[in-house]
Amino acid sequence: MKIQRMLSNNTWVDEKNQNYFIYMVIERESWRAERDNRSPMTTREQVEAYLATGKEIDYSSDWYAKLRDGDALQPRIVKAVELVKCQCGHTVNSSRVLSTSHGTSCPDCYDAMSN
Ligand SMILES: [Zn+2]
Repeated sequence: MKIQRMLSNNTWVDEKNQNYFIYMVIERESWRAERDNRSPMTTREQVEAYLATGKEIDYSSDWYAKLRDGDALQPRIVKAVELVKCQCGHTVNSSRVLSTSHGTSCPDCYDAMSN
């Protein structure tokens, strides 16, 4: 678990003073939980379990006053499409490159390149 706190400039920072902010969350729970239609959390463990699901929770009424668990975030997989020029002369996504007895080939030229 890596508790992070949002700043007013819309960036998240790792929060060192976790006890303080979790305490603020719990203080606010009687109001917040009713709004979310759930039971108020009363312990640090409950707040941590909530954050571990990847949800954010606010600790005050400021729009940016939120905590999250940096470890619970889905890793953002940026998969760059790599284009490769095959020896058949065509350029294709690297995952579609085939190797033949005459060198690399795109799927369309595979048969011709295999002869
Ligand atoms: Zn080709």
